[in-house]
Amino acid sequence: MIEKNDVLMTRPSWIEVDLKAINYNAQLIMRHAGANRLIAVVKANAYGHGAVAVTKSLYDIGVRDFAVATIDEGIVLRKHLPKNNVNIILLGVQDVSHVRLMLTHRLSPAVGELEWLQEAEQLIDDGEILDIQLAVDTGMGRMGAHSETAVQAMYDKILSSTKLNLSGIFTHFATADDENQNYYDEQIDNFYKWVQSANIPKSYWHLANSGSALWHYHQINTDTIRVGSVLYGYNPGAPDLPMPIITKNVLSLKSRIGAVHKLQVGESLSYGATYTAQYSQWVATLPIGYADGYLRRMTGMKVLVGGQEEHVIGRITMDQLVITLDRQYPVGTIVTLIGRDGDKEITLENFADYAHTIPHEILTSFGQRLSRIYK
Ligand SMILES: *Cc1c(COP(=O)(O)O)cnc(C)c1O
Repeated sequence: MIEKNDVLMTRPSWIEVDLKAINYNAQLIMRHAGANRLIAVVKANAYGHGAVAVTKSLYDIGVRDFAVATIDEGIVLRKHLPKNNVNIILLGVQDVSHVRLMLTHRLSPAVGELEWLQEAEQLIDDGEILDIQLAVDTGMGRMGAHSETAVQAMYDKILSSTKLNLSGIFTHFATADDENQNYYDEQIDNFYKWVQSANIPKSYWHLANSGSALWHYHQINTDTIRVGSVLYGYNPGAPDLPMPIITKNVLSLKSRIGAVHKLQVGESLSYGATYTAQYSQWVATLPIGYADGYLRRMTGMKVLVGGQEEHVIGRITMDQLVITLDRQYPVGTIVTLIGRDGDKEITLENFADYAHTIPHEILTSFGQRLSRIYK
């Protein structure tokens, strides 16, 4: 039994997070992109890695800007980080009625509409100031000022208000991690045109997400990058684009064998009895299932036991799954579902590829029941 962060690990399936690797990746991507300021994107519980542990670790190497999606996420971070010198940005659309919460916890919302600013002013008392991140929609189509005049009008509004302060202006790229260079170029052109015509100083700009910082840094000569994926060590452009830098892997997913038994010829297992033994074989049950984010469609996927490849067989259930074994292993043997065992490795990219999705979705599907253990 492993005890960690006051959680009794009575169910031995867990995620290991290498915080030093995150710090390393942060410094590496900044060097690669020629940036001197990092806005670390830690939304969705730091892409499943644990937002509080990840932000504290990055804080220790000098990161002072963090971005989340929701007010709730922002409040949790504010509670756990030093009060005075940390900026917390809210990237999602926020209802203006929550302005008082944003003031109390000093959260800077991304705002893309003039009306939002006007309504917010009514809710802010004299002497109070709300930091605004001006969102510019250059092609993502989710939120943001969508023309030269809209950007100008919002900037003017912020400048003329005693209750609003500009803390940044940004746009988000739709194709930075694929091969659609033209669409990317158009987004950059729009941003430069609109923001320069409004005379918004460059020190406020932040544009680069991971794909942009990895593959397009020469087009974005701003001091600040705003990245998530690359911090966590995986390739956001996989499998089409190779990584231009060598990041360190951050996350492993592990479990311990809970039960071992021999399946006789003709015997089947799990729901639907979809797997039937063709020969007598050892199998093991692991205490992890689709409720933990080990998706139901992962049947047939590799796992590593004792440095060897084995496979998931039969239907994956909510809390348990079954794997092949080449011989009888003791209960309690560690099984690696993502990560390295000896000279074999299952990467997050392999896992996502098998699931026909992207690594981001796999990471954010890992359930609350999995303990996060930090190295
Ligand atoms: C999620 C997000 C990011 C981070 O994207 P990565 O590709 O993971 O680096 C940056 N900016 C905005 C607005 C986002 O929503």
